[in-house]
Amino acid sequence: MTHVDLDDMQALLVAEKDQLEEELASHGRKTGGDWQGSSTEVKASSADFTEIADQIEELATNVPIVEELEKRYREVTAALKRIDDGNYGKCEVCGKEIPADRLEANPAATTCIEHAE
Ligand SMILES: [Zn+2]
Repeated sequence: MTHVDLDDMQALLVAEKDQLEEELASHGRKTGGDWQGSSTEVKASSADFTEIADQIEELATNVPIVEELEKRYREVTAALKRIDDGNYGKCEVCGKEIPADRLEANPAATTCIEHAE
């Protein structure tokens, strides 16, 4: 079996993490440790109905985007932690090595093909 190069995987994961942070910052704001979908701040006193409607629409668009991004962000940071811990590349269900081509397709994969959701 071909083994993945951990340094390569780490570089891919770090690059993805940076990109996700950037996207999260453009779609949401960080409150505490969590990201939340945000919209342009509209002052209630000066807002007319259209502005408020726009703001609600923006929020409705951003919230699911941020949820997706944050989910992926967690997967990526968890994978980086597994590299640090020396557990990277093992299926979390059966403990077998995850095939290199699967990890190359998704460096944050946590299971072998057999145990993929
Ligand atoms: Zn497995």
